[in-house]
Amino acid sequence: MDLKSKEFIPDTIEQLCLMVEGYQNKPDTAWLKTVFEFSKKAHEGQFRRSGQAYISHPLGVAGLLAHLKLDLETVATGLLHDTVEDTPVTLEDVRTHFGLPVAQMVDGVTKISKMKFRHTHEKQGENIRKMILAMGKDIRVVLVKLADRLHNMRTLGHMPFEKQSRIAQETLDIYAPLASRLGINWLKVELEDLSFRFSNPEAYYDLVQKIQKKKKERESFIDDTVSVIGKIFKSQMKNQPEVYGRPKHLFSIYKKMENSGIEYEQVYDVLAFRIIVGTVSECYEALGHIHSLWKPIPGRFKDYIAMPKANNYQSLHTTVIGPGGQRIEIQIRNNEMHLVAEQGIAAHWTYKEGGRKGSITAKAIEQFNWVREIVSTHQDSESADAFLEDFKSDLFDSEIYVFTPKGEVKEFPEGATPIDFAYSIHTEVGQRCTGAKVNGKGVPLKYQLKNGDFVEILTSKTQVPSKDWLKNCVTSRARTKIRSFVKEEERKKALTLGHSLVEKAFRKYGRSYNKAQKTEGLLAFMKERGCNSFEDLQAQVGYGKIVAPSLVEAAYPDAVAETPGAESGDNIITKVFKSLSKSTASKNSMVVVDGIDDIWVHFAKCCSPIPGDSINGYVTRGRGIVIHTAHCQKALLMDSARQVDVDWHSKASVTSSRVVKLKIITTDNQGMLVRLSEVLHSRGINILNVQIRATKDRKAICHFDLSIKNTSELSRVMQDIQSLPDVIGVNRVHQS
Ligand code: MN
Repeated sequence: MDLKSKEFIPDTIEQLCLMVEGYQNKPDTAWLKTVFEFSKKAHEGQFRRSGQAYISHPLGVAGLLAHLKLDLETVATGLLHDTVEDTPVTLEDVRTHFGLPVAQMVDGVTKISKMKFRHTHEKQGENIRKMILAMGKDIRVVLVKLADRLHNMRTLGHMPFEKQSRIAQETLDIYAPLASRLGINWLKVELEDLSFRFSNPEAYYDLVQKIQKKKKERESFIDDTVSVIGKIFKSQMKNQPEVYGRPKHLFSIYKKMENSGIEYEQVYDVLAFRIIVGTVSECYEALGHIHSLWKPIPGRFKDYIAMPKANNYQSLHTTVIGPGGQRIEIQIRNNEMHLVAEQGIAAHWTYKEGGRKGSITAKAIEQFNWVREIVSTHQDSESADAFLEDFKSDLFDSEIYVFTPKGEVKEFPEGATPIDFAYSIHTEVGQRCTGAKVNGKGVPLKYQLKNGDFVEILTSKTQVPSKDWLKNCVTSRARTKIRSFVKEEERKKALTLGHSLVEKAFRKYGRSYNKAQKTEGLLAFMKERGCNSFEDLQAQVGYGKIVAPSLVEAAYPDAVAETPGAESGDNIITKVFKSLSKSTASKNSMVVVDGIDDIWVHFAKCCSPIPGDSINGYVTRGRGIVIHTAHCQKALLMDSARQVDVDWHSKASVTSSRVVKLKIITTDNQGMLVRLSEVLHSRGINILNVQIRATKDRKAICHFDLSIKNTSELSRVMQDIQSLPDVIGVNRVHQS
C-alpha cells in the first residue's frame, strides 16, 4: 500500500507504456511511443553527467508522472520537457507533431528552466515569482516541473559540489513546500531528504548513523507494537485494519532537533504508526481502541477528517504513551484518504477511454486555487523580496481553524490575527477593519486567533491600513494588500511634498518650475535619474532621493552663482502648518505646507517636539519630513541640504496633543503619586504611562508620559508640579 517511487523509473519506453496501461483504460501507447522516438532523436548524442544517454532523464521524468497516474499529455510532456531548451527542436515542431496542449506545457517548463536563480535574495524572489506565473496557467506544468526536479535531485551526486548545495537549497525553499501544498506527500518527503543530504551532508550522515545504530532495537519495537495493536483489533473490530510502523523521514527528525535544540536521543516520537481502515466510522472506532490501550497525550490529538488541511489531507492524528512508556504517533485513515495523502492533487485525475487528456475534479481545482491566488495578488507586486517572504509564509501548514459568524470554518497559519481573517473575507473588509469580536468579546487587531474562535470583524468607513499592520498579520493575501496600499499612500504624499519642495526651490532663485520643465538641462537630468516624467522626478524629491536645489542647478546652471547669498542646498523657506490630530503622521494629520494639504511629516522620537518648541524639518529618504526641535543634538548631524524651515500651524497648539516625557524627583513620600495625579487631572492632562523607582536615599524617581498640547501648557504644568512640597525637581526628558 505504501507508495514508494524509486522502483517506478522505467528503463525503456515499453516499461513506461505498461505503467500507463496500469491505470488508464486502453491508452494510446502508439502515440506515446512516437513522442518517445521524437525526443530520443532530438537528444541523440547528448549525455547526462552520469554518463547515461540523455533520454534516460526525460524517460525517468515521464515515469514519475506515470507513477502519479497523470494523463497521457502530461506523461508526453515529461518525455519532451527538455527538447526545446536543449535541442534544435522548436515549440512549433512540438505543436505540429503533438498538439497545442503539449506544446504549451513544454513552453511553461522551458520558461521555468531558463530562469537563472541568482544568489541575491532579491533576484531569487523575482525568479520564483516568474516561475509561479509561468506555472500558474496549467497545474500540469507544476507537476512536470516537480517530477523533473525530483529526477535531477536523485542524480545530483554527479553535479559539482557548489551546484549541489545551491540546487538543494532551492528545492528545500520552493519545490518541497510546493509538493506539500499540492498534497503529494511522498514527493515532498523525498525532495526534503535529498535536499537535506546535499545541503547539509554532515548533519545528514551524522543522523543516518545514529538512526542506523538503533535499527535492530527499533525494528523489534515496531513489530511488538504492531502486534499489540493487531491483537486488540482482532478481538474488537469486524474488518481488520492494516497496521504498520516506520521511522519518520530524516528531514522531519532533523527539523525537530533543530527547532527544539535537542539531540537525536531526545526526540521521542521518531516513529510513526499508520492504521488504514475501510470506512470513516472505522477510523474513529480504531482511535477508540488505541486510546483504551494507551494513554493519549493531551493536545496532540488532531481530527483532520472533520477539518481537512488546505491540501485536502485527511486523517486522525494522536500521540500516545505506548509500550515501555515510549511516545508514539499514530495516524488513522481510510484507503481513500491514504491515496489523497500520498498522491494529493494527482489523486483527482479521471480519464476517458483512450483519451490523451485527463480531467481533474472540482475538488482538486479548489486545491489549486491557492497557487492562482498567489499569482493574482502578486501580478504587479514590485518587491520580489516581499513576494518571496509572503510566498514562503503561505507554504506553512495551516494550524488554526476558526469560525465565521455563520459557522463556516476558515483556516489560517499559526499567528494569524483579525487582520488576516478580515482580508480573507474581502479586501474591502480588510482595509476597513478596526478590530474584532472573538467569541463575543472585543479584541485588538493584534490578537492571535486560536483554534475554535468565533470571529466577527468590526469595520469603520474611516479606517485605512497602516504599515504597522504588517507586524500583525501572516497571510500573503493580507500582507500584499497592505503593502500595496501603504506604498500608494506614500507615493501620493511623496508627490505632493516633492512638488512643493521643487516649486519653492525654483522660486527662491527667481525662476519658474513650469518654464524649467522645458529646459534641456532638466529634461536630461530627469532621464539621467531614471525618471519617466516630471511627476516621477517630484516623487523622487519627496522620497528624499534627490534634493530639490539640484533640479534648479540642472535647469539653470548659472542661477546658483547669480543669486547672492543663496547656495545650493541652502534653506528653503517652507512653512509646515500642522494641526495635529494625532502624534503620528496618519492620513488624518492634516499637515499643510504653504497651503497644500496632507504633507507627509512625522516627529522625531529623539526630541519629541510639541507646538511652541522651535523646530526644523528634514527631508528623509522615503519617510517624508521629520520634525526635530531646533536644538536637537541628533538633528545637528543631519545634512543641511535636506533641511526645510518649518513652523507650527497657528491652530496646532489647541487642536490636539503630543506625548511629553517628564522626569520628576520627589522625596519618597506615600501619597505623592496621588497628589501628582491630582495636579495633572486638575489641568485636564492625560497620563499615558507612569514608572516609579525608589532610590536608596529614600527618593522616588517618577517617569510620566503626558499628553500635552503645547509648550505653554507644559510650562504651567511643570510649575504646578515644582510647587508641590515634596517635589525636588522636574525635567522634560528627551529620549536619546
Ligand atoms: Mn529536465
